[in-house]
Amino acid sequence: MKSRRRPYAEQRPRDLGGGVWSVPVPIPGSPLGYTLVYAVASPRGPVLVDAGWNHPDAWEALSGGLASLGLDVTAVRGVVVTHFHPDHAGLAGQVREASGGWIAMHESDAALVRLMTEYAGDRHDGFQSDMLRRAGADPGEVRQAVGDRPAPPALPDRELRDGDLVDLPGRKLRAVHTPGHTPGHICLHLEDADRLFTGDHVLPDITPHIGIYPYDRDDVDPLGDFLESLDRVGELGPLGASMTALPAHEWIFPDVAARAAEIRHHHEEKLEQLRALLARRPEPQTIWEVAAMMTWNRPWEDLSPMVRGMAAGEAAAHLRSLEASGLVRRLPGVDPVRFQALDS
Ligand SMILES: [Zn+2]
Repeated sequence: MKSRRRPYAEQRPRDLGGGVWSVPVPIPGSPLGYTLVYAVASPRGPVLVDAGWNHPDAWEALSGGLASLGLDVTAVRGVVVTHFHPDHAGLAGQVREASGGWIAMHESDAALVRLMTEYAGDRHDGFQSDMLRRAGADPGEVRQAVGDRPAPPALPDRELRDGDLVDLPGRKLRAVHTPGHTPGHICLHLEDADRLFTGDHVLPDITPHIGIYPYDRDDVDPLGDFLESLDRVGELGPLGASMTALPAHEWIFPDVAARAAEIRHHHEEKLEQLRALLARRPEPQTIWEVAAMMTWNRPWEDLSPMVRGMAAGEAAAHLRSLEASGLVRRLPGVDPVRFQALDS
């Protein structure tokens, strides 16, 4: 199927009706192209859902795009970010400086931002290379996969929990905790208009990266959380109807429940394929070996060390989920960590 995704150059700020606007904000150098930042009107200034990547061109697009819709970035009441990733939270700090508004995010992502702020530079590089080595990457790959990272986003002024209403006078915008892509990812339900801002949780064509960090963690199950979060958004809204989704990338689409079910199915198939792959290997496999066996959008040999690292994170999340369901086991006390299929 041919993607309906259009390049950033063809995107325009839009009035979506009912006091909701969208502004495409470019992500320099990314094939994803742009983040859709949304503004929701209130009598005391608009609230933004996400803010975009921290770059002068992105700031230009955001402030200029808002102005073209009759909105002033200095009048923004606050920014609620769906999750801490740089293409969503990156510009939140600059919006706060320009407007004096607040920044809100889920408490679990706020905790991560605090950790990233404390754990910057060389200390982080050491942690990262050690994790890659334990996953089975060879020393050359470890060296190349540890690299520049964007600065952590601004710390939030407000922390949200599941079910909290965002400070948006005269309207009802509720945080729905949808962990998976990040531990504190939230969707935002505009209850008075029955629209759902889905962030990266449910996108119309692509699926979000679901990883685990560090890769050999065994006390969390982000993919399991993600699948539950997909069910959750399918159950929101008026009985028998499904809501329009306003995602952070690609395009706006109807029927969030149908798309959520499709994504769930995709991961269930991927889990079963992975279990079957492992069952055919007599030897226990490292995370790196498992990642190399899985199907990606390009052959494993053509993936850059950085992308291989992300693929390994995704493989690790799938292994962990299979382990949590009792279909796979990790060998005790081996380094690098190795996994083996269990007879089912
Ligand atoms: Zn993201």
